[in-house]
Amino acid sequence: MSANGGIVPATRESIREAARIIRGGGLVAFPTETVYGLGANALDTDAVKKIFEAKGRPQDNPLIVHVSGIREAAEYAEVRELAENLMNNFWPGPLTVVLYSVGIIPDVTRAGLDTIALRVPLHPVALSLIKEAGVPIAAPSANKSGRPSPTSASAVADDLGGAVDLIIDGGFTSVGLESTVVDATGDRVTVLRPGGVTREMLAKVADLSDGDERAFAHRSPGTLHRHYAPDVPLFLWDGFERASFEMARGVKWCYMGVKEPPKDLDTSYRKIIFSSLDEYARELFSMLREFETSGGQIIIAQLPGESDIGSAIRNRLERAANI
Ligand code: AMP
Ligand code: MG
Repeated sequence: MSANGGIVPATRESIREAARIIRGGGLVAFPTETVYGLGANALDTDAVKKIFEAKGRPQDNPLIVHVSGIREAAEYAEVRELAENLMNNFWPGPLTVVLYSVGIIPDVTRAGLDTIALRVPLHPVALSLIKEAGVPIAAPSANKSGRPSPTSASAVADDLGGAVDLIIDGGFTSVGLESTVVDATGDRVTVLRPGGVTREMLAKVADLSDGDERAFAHRSPGTLHRHYAPDVPLFLWDGFERASFEMARGVKWCYMGVKEPPKDLDTSYRKIIFSSLDEYARELFSMLREFETSGGQIIIAQLPGESDIGSAIRNRLERAANI
């Protein structure tokens, strides 16, 4: 089996090999239900530094640590009632919980914060890898920092090819957007980054802080950085204002959304109409990557409403368009 940045199918053998690489201080890209992760032993400072180097990730952006379950989470963080309730309801799944660190996970993984972000992924390959490795796995998205997150093994190879020891191919990811990040250090749950577990879902089981994630961005360093941006300019359409399409005049434009763009414009170069918001979320990053190599000169994306997964789609689009 190639261990030089090659893509290998997810098998019992390749997962075992990946676990050996992680324990030996190397880097492995692996599928989760959200996006592909770039994993290293979260306890190994040198290995975690390689993640920051490979991605070109700012040092002040802490990593999410992937564990096998609540019991393991409690080894690294103070898990009280509020957090345990969230974990019972949403783990394994696309919810990352920020808690006070008990000091075992090193500084570099936490970017020097006194808190730590923990998640149990809902993906058989990711779960087997964590268990087989026997160590917590620090894993941000497996893209170059600032680029759209990877939802396939080939997108990982395009961005990080030579810098990773092994890429495990588990097909396309099912959610397509990164996990919801919540702070559960206090009495209420604060959403720091919207994602697959929506505010509506959280509100059913816990008290939420008032205000949306924009009000709390300062508490989550990574949410302040520009991110997810394609190489081609991206413009956003609110679904109503025709003026948003002025920049489409005389250029080849790509479009995606759940709503048809205005009919009387010059024809678009590529047009994708999603049948649901879940499909929009799942396809968003792979379409940004496809559009930028399609020959289109600009991309126009529709901003959906705030409800359900819509707020996570809006968050990624707004940061990708740098508005
Ligand atoms: P990524 O792994 O690239 O999807 O980004 C991880 C996200 O989790 C970033 O937005 C970080 O700011 C956030 N995060 C990780 N650890 C913490 C923490 N201890 N406190 C607050 N936010 C965190
Ligand atoms: Mg990321």
